[in-house]
Order: sequence, then C-alpha cells, then structure tokens
Amino acid sequence: MDRRAFLAQLGGLLLVSRRVSAQNAPWQELEPVALGDGLKLRIRQAQNPGPVFFIPHNDENVAVRSVEQFWRTVQPMGTLIELQQFEPSGRNLELRYVYQTLQGTRIYADPNRIYSANLRITEKKLELGSSETKRCGVAFTTNPGDLGKQAARRFQTIGEKITAILRQYLSITDPLIVAMHNNTNDALQASPAYFSERQFELSDRPSAKSRLQNRDLDNFFLATQREDYARLRKLEWNSILQLPTAIDDGSLSIWAAKQQIRYINIEAEHVLCAQPLPRQVGLQVQMIAAAVQNISDASR
Ligand SMILES: [Zn+2]
Repeated sequence: MDRRAFLAQLGGLLLVSRRVSAQNAPWQELEPVALGDGLKLRIRQAQNPGPVFFIPHNDENVAVRSVEQFWRTVQPMGTLIELQQFEPSGRNLELRYVYQTLQGTRIYADPNRIYSANLRITEKKLELGSSETKRCGVAFTTNPGDLGKQAARRFQTIGEKITAILRQYLSITDPLIVAMHNNTNDALQASPAYFSERQFELSDRPSAKSRLQNRDLDNFFLATQREDYARLRKLEWNSILQLPTAIDDGSLSIWAAKQQIRYINIEAEHVLCAQPLPRQVGLQVQMIAAAVQNISDASR
C-alpha cells in the first residue's frame, strides 16, 4: 500500500462511527433513513461529489449493480439512494411497489407516483395500482377502497421525506438527480405510444440509424432540460425531453421539473432485473457515463 492509500484508509477510520466504509468499495454506507413500516432509504456515498443516483424500485437490481460498477471502474462520484422495504423479520422484500399498513391492510404504491403536491393525484394512482401489471418480480397491489385518502396522505408524506433527502445530497455546484430504472423488452419504449408528443419531445429514433450498440428503443434517457436531451441525442441515444406541458402524474421527473432541479432518467432493458447479467450492467454503466459526461469539474 502506498502512502496516499494508507492515509486515505486512515482518514476513513477516523470518520464518525456512523459512516462505515464497505470493504474495498469506493463508497461509504451512511445511516439509512427510516420512513415507517420497514420502508427505508439506503444511502451510499462515493469519494467525490457528483449526482444523486436514485433507485425507487427495489427489484431493479441491474440499476444498483450498475452504479456500483460505475463507481468501481469509471468514477466514484455522488450518492446512491435506494428505496427498500423490509419485513419485520429484517428480510428485504425486493418489491417493485412499496406498502404501508393501514388498519391491518397493506396498501401498495408505485414509489415513482408519490411526489405530487396534489393529494388527489396520489390517491388516484393508488386506485390505479390494482390494475398495474407486473414488470419485474411481483407487483403486489391492493385497491385502497375506503382507505384511499388516508393511504394517499401517508404516501404523500413519504414522498416529501424522500425528496427532502434527495435535496440534501444534491451537489451545490452541479445539482443533478439521475433516476435509474430497468424495464423489460417492449414494456416501455422511447416512442409516442408510451410518451405522448403533446407532453414529450422524442428524438427521431437515433437507434434506427445508429451502428452503435444498445440503441434499442428499450434503452433511453428522459431529461427535464433541453441541454441534456440534445447532448444525449447527439450521442445517438434514444432521448426524451419532458415538456413543461407534461401532466403531473406524481412522478419524480415532474417534481424535479417543478423545482427546477436538473433530472435525467436512465431506462435500461433487462432480462431478469433481480438477477443482473454482466452485459446488462455494462450497458447501464455506459448510460451513466453518458448522463454525467458534462458534470462540471468544480463538483468533482
Ligand atoms: Zn423503475
């Protein structure tokens, strides 16, 4: 071990005990934030400042492995925040949806539909929950029925806590949220069938023309700022710009746009999102590198 590495390790040991350095990993595990009913935010911080990587769906393990690999092999930067739900036994349920127990019933919500300031939107999404199809793992759903308002309020509060934490870890010089998702083949694509052209501007299918790898329509970026959209499009990635006319559906991208926080969503295809294949992790690492390409040096 050279002197610098030794000093770096020593520095790690001297940090407050709440921060535990994972063995041989270029990040530190911070104290998780409890959100009630076994729901937690797992927070890991890399050595250098950078974006907040947020993974709301707890079964999208390709995304998690991709950030870890990006940190190990490309650049350890920013903070990784994952939403996870644990049973009272301590088992991580790895569910796509999160739940809260109300009057003995578990009500499930999509953790990417709880960020609206309008409670009716949150409640509406809970009702829709019962008709959602499963995409990865098992999507448990319960129609909230009479518990709707109460459940919506609970999830809205959770959404507010989550966004407060995301804000807390945003870089001061170059604030950026990189939301990470995985989807299955043809389940969600960069096409007008999934993203209405009244609400979103879509790149003109660069995938069809590109000879580059992984330009399949299932792999795409959704940005809230035109500069990011234009830049990623130039790199021949399928890109979507969320327009100011986009309807509030409780998703984090709408919240970020309202707060004028720079936001890029990385959607990457998987075969089995809970059991990542190296090829899929490699693809999403490539997409992370493209997303953070122009992060200013000042924030590093
Ligand atoms: Zn997702």
